Amino acid sequence: MINSVRGFKDIYGKEAKVWEKLEKRLRESFSLWGFEEVRLPILEKTELFQRSIGDTTDIVEKEMYTFLDKSNESVTMRPEGTASIIRFLNEHKLYGPDKILKFFYIGPMFRYERPQKGRLRQFNQAGVELLGDSTPYAEFEVLSLMDNFLESIGIKDRMLFLNNLGCPLCRQQYRKTLLEYLEQNHNLCEDCIRRKNTNPLRVLDCKSETCKETIKNSPKILDFICENCKNHMAKLEELLKMCKIQYQIDPYIVRGLDYYVKTVFEVHAKGLGSQSAILAGGRYDNLSKDLGGYDIPAVGWALGIERTVLLLPENFIEEEYLDIFFIYFNERAEKIILPPLNNLRKKGIKVSYDPSKGSLKSKMRKADKLKSRYVVILGDDEISNGVFILKNMNLGKQITLPLEKLENLEKEI
Ligand SMILES: [Zn+2]
Ligand SMILES: [Zn+2]
Repeated sequence: MINSVRGFKDIYGKEAKVWEKLEKRLRESFSLWGFEEVRLPILEKTELFQRSIGDTTDIVEKEMYTFLDKSNESVTMRPEGTASIIRFLNEHKLYGPDKILKFFYIGPMFRYERPQKGRLRQFNQAGVELLGDSTPYAEFEVLSLMDNFLESIGIKDRMLFLNNLGCPLCRQQYRKTLLEYLEQNHNLCEDCIRRKNTNPLRVLDCKSETCKETIKNSPKILDFICENCKNHMAKLEELLKMCKIQYQIDPYIVRGLDYYVKTVFEVHAKGLGSQSAILAGGRYDNLSKDLGGYDIPAVGWALGIERTVLLLPENFIEEEYLDIFFIYFNERAEKIILPPLNNLRKKGIKVSYDPSKGSLKSKMRKADKLKSRYVVILGDDEISNGVFILKNMNLGKQITLPLEKLENLEKEI
């Protein structure tokens, strides 16, 4: 037998129903906030991610599913959605003066990481991107959407962590200071020794224990940001407080992608162990321009679907039930039952039946298993008398009705 690839999995049964409902609720919220869906391709040119996410990031260095296609073009299964949104926006020339664009996507992403709880190699994200607004209202829009959505699906034990990475103007000074600090014989892992010169901020994002110690005492970005960046952050905090959206400042959030400026954030939830981030994002005003496209400010986030599913309350999906289960025993009864049964389905009534040669007892057990609210029984005696039995399973009571009533049975239940 051939099994699935490590880090890839099938979703079925109750879990598939949870996913379906979660996606439905996401779409409802996105639409309420005015975001429109984009169905992005899974495969993109490798260059798109190298130039956007950054050459020195873990994602690009180690985790991408990159291969040559049959015409020797290097392609990559998307590791995230933002770069594709920017590519899409420019390719279709969707931006114009004073335009604000709001897009969302839902779908699988691919990263070659060590599989663990809530982290697979094919994982799913739902993301929003708000483009064309350089003010803190853009952050407020996507963060209020996040807060309302997570609250509405019952993820209560969560916290929004906020940071400001500065703009290209003020980040230079921080970079210099951080690099000086890192070079004063502080312990760093091999990766960080190599990449600290190309991008010292990457070290802040490192998960190795050696680096974590070093990071603890490192200079903090918030002490270096310029007036403009400070004001931006202050206004955002004011808006969040106004609407009672809880947050904490965390000066060590840098995110694993190079394209962020100013605002970055993560939402962590209790119940996931060490990998507790369920949503993350930030501002990326220069990404489009850097890729040769529009000069367009942008903010976005992505939610991890697998991790969110792990946190959903037990009663997130209602129990499935059936409206009516039909019990009969021969072809004579079948001729009477199937045409009205088929019509009930057309009317949206959820029905089922069992054409096998089982006993009444075994068929009743089946009705129980399917959580049927009503059962119709049509035995030979009933046919002779021109009637059928309708049993209310919740009350345990049954009535006898004339066969004509089968036609509009929805009126009897
Ligand atoms: Zn700045
Ligand atoms: Zn490191």
